[in-house]
Amino acid sequence: MRKKQFKTESKRLLDLMINSIYTHKDIFLRELISNSSDALDKLAFRALTDEGVGLNRSDLAIDLSVNEIERTLTISDNGIGMTQEELENNLGTIAKSGTLQFREDMAQGEAEDTPDIIGQFGVGFYSAFMVAETVSVVSRAYGSDEAYRWESSGADGYTIVPAFRATPGTDVTLYLKASTEEDDYDKYLDVFQLEGIVKKYSDYIRYPIRAEITTSREKARDPETPADAPVEYETVKELTTLNSMVPLWQRKRSDVTDEERNAFYRSAFSDYQDPISCIQTSVEGAVTYRAMLFIPGRLPSDFYARDCRFGLQLYSNNVMIMENCPEMLPEYFRFVKGVVDSPDFSLNISREMLQQTGQVKKICSNLEKKIKAELVRLQKEDFETYLQFWTAFGILLKYGVVNDYGVHKDFLRELLLFPSSTQDFPTSLADYVSRMPEDQPYIYYASGRDVEQIASLPQAERFTAKGYEILCLTNEVDEFVLQVLEKEGEKYFKSIDADDALPETDDEKAENMAKAAEHEAVTSFMKEKLTGRVFDVRLSGKLVSHAVCMTADGPISLDMEKYFKALGQNGPNMTARRVLEVNPDSQVFTVLAAAVKDGDTEKAERITEILYSQALLIAGYPLEDPSAFSDMVCALIQ
Ligand code: ADP
Repeated sequence: MRKKQFKTESKRLLDLMINSIYTHKDIFLRELISNSSDALDKLAFRALTDEGVGLNRSDLAIDLSVNEIERTLTISDNGIGMTQEELENNLGTIAKSGTLQFREDMAQGEAEDTPDIIGQFGVGFYSAFMVAETVSVVSRAYGSDEAYRWESSGADGYTIVPAFRATPGTDVTLYLKASTEEDDYDKYLDVFQLEGIVKKYSDYIRYPIRAEITTSREKARDPETPADAPVEYETVKELTTLNSMVPLWQRKRSDVTDEERNAFYRSAFSDYQDPISCIQTSVEGAVTYRAMLFIPGRLPSDFYARDCRFGLQLYSNNVMIMENCPEMLPEYFRFVKGVVDSPDFSLNISREMLQQTGQVKKICSNLEKKIKAELVRLQKEDFETYLQFWTAFGILLKYGVVNDYGVHKDFLRELLLFPSSTQDFPTSLADYVSRMPEDQPYIYYASGRDVEQIASLPQAERFTAKGYEILCLTNEVDEFVLQVLEKEGEKYFKSIDADDALPETDDEKAENMAKAAEHEAVTSFMKEKLTGRVFDVRLSGKLVSHAVCMTADGPISLDMEKYFKALGQNGPNMTARRVLEVNPDSQVFTVLAAAVKDGDTEKAERITEILYSQALLIAGYPLEDPSAFSDMVCALIQ
């Protein structure tokens, strides 16, 4: 029979499994059991929505059986099964997004230590090839009379032929590899060893995982037998359930180890890293529910992909009723994974109903508060971990502040961090305020590429000189965030570009006005020359040792304009009114003023152009004509 070939990606993963030197090969069993459990879930779910499925949930089970002579281990389930086409599609190619992720990380060299990654990651069906020479899958799909056998001995492909199975379900049979000095595969023929592996990795599976265990017991006595006759024993095979079947979230928090929680997270939510935090909660009363929520430690690589699935898993009395329910969490907490189990969820609940019922709303708002409390705790008690979280997901919280007309701003403000000109790590707003010197009137901020660039802005000098800290806004949404928040405690936010950022005394005001009048001719000259390029040219009180800077007049700052531009919007309300500010005490200004006064227009124009170009450069804009700029500088030097 002609063998079909695996798809390229599948083949690569398969090779990896076949040649795996991984010491914890045991996890293949967890993977196959978890597939069976999913298949049972799917059938149980079908029964909820389709009355034709006459199902007794207590019949659903996963059976392990061994044949020592053939050296096979079979994992059977009476779940949803697979059609011929599904066998082809599901086992001939990589279906799972998580598996794809695994491959990508391997390609990026992120997973340098491959064997460990295999252990932590749900690699699925192919892990069977870590322990088996040949894998045979006989499956009959629910609702079909036909069964098929998929078989493969690894890299050279697979075959699919008609087969027989009396009832719907799937049997995965592993023809175990021969044991070697290093690797013992015979242990998978020993039911007690299998029991140990099941207890370790799959205890929480909600369906019975059974095996026939041979035990010896007292033989039933013949009533005739004299009472003092010796007790006789017989050996019997008994179908025994190996797992406790209690899902983790139904157990007391203190009865679940971190290792169990992490393993559950990794396998149920396809991550190869442990979560940074687990929130377990149980409420009884007007609403009753149990939840186990996880905060992942990294941004999933498909997080921003259109088909990325968010949301919590919903259970009602241990039956999974919805696999991804994003409606349970606000948009800004959509990175949270987990399970909510409540008898208050009706079994055939729809998304729309979820949003309407009061009890569900109550659960949602409780969960939201729990998540926030946990994040606040991390920020206070384990800042390093919080920073890891913030780096991955902080941006969602910022958008959470800005979106929905700012209604969530006060809920989220505590969680926000911003880089600061004086701190090694991003700071919370409350911490910034607590460090403010008494005379500091505002919380200062500036926008730019990074902390270094912002700290070296000419207009930052006056603030640093006074010992004032500057929040560095390096993300395009940051200014909008501060605009929505308006203030922290009693202190308002203020851009260091604002004319009133540092209050002036009356004397200073008078002096500045006098200076402005004195140099009117120079600023008018510059403004004339730069018509259409700047809104205004002003003498600046913001500069100390530098000659120029670019600021904006009005509500749209330079960085907001950049943001709008990036979005492809440049309407009249989305452009900044650029102001070129010059330092009247700088030497170059003195030279310029003299040129204007002496009527040396050519020189005055050249200096104006150079100052304008410099201001553009400092503010992070490209020059309109770099080579002309360079020529002008050279001409001046000569
Ligand atoms: P994953 O389970 O992560 O999707 P696998 O490679 O383990 O990836 O399995 C691929 C697919 O094969 C599954 O998604 C499922 O559709 C199907 N499958 C595997 N085992 C079974 C089973 N015992 N019963 C029904 N379908 C199964």
